[in-house]
Amino acid sequence: MPRHKGLVDDASYVTVHLKNPSCGDDMRVQTKIEADVITDIHHDGSGCSICCASASMMAELVKGEHIEQAQAKKKAFYQMVSGQGIDEELLADAISLQGVAKLPPRIKCATLGWKAFEQTLSVDTVEYDEGVTRIDE
Ligand SMILES: [Zn+2]
Repeated sequence: MPRHKGLVDDASYVTVHLKNPSCGDDMRVQTKIEADVITDIHHDGSGCSICCASASMMAELVKGEHIEQAQAKKKAFYQMVSGQGIDEELLADAISLQGVAKLPPRIKCATLGWKAFEQTLSVDTVEYDEGVTRIDE
């Protein structure tokens, strides 16, 4: 059972549901934010192994972090999968996904959980991506 997998039924969480039609990945991410800290995070979904592994590591990396630090980790992850360098200090176990940089079609898989996470933050800097579908529930 991957850590943080499965959603909770609690209105104090923000849920974002994204789909990556090019691969069939379908991911929901829930966060609870208190005083700009991600105090809890859950994810659930189905998809390829890259998508599921990445979402699981993302949850591990951002739980307990301040929003700014979580955004820095997201940025480091995006840089890694686009071949712009690896920040091992910020990314920890997620560096195991560095090979995605050589598989451009899979970048959407690797970043889907991160995008859903970022959209739960409702911050101005959120990047939306063509080819990823947001499902309003
Ligand atoms: Zn995928």
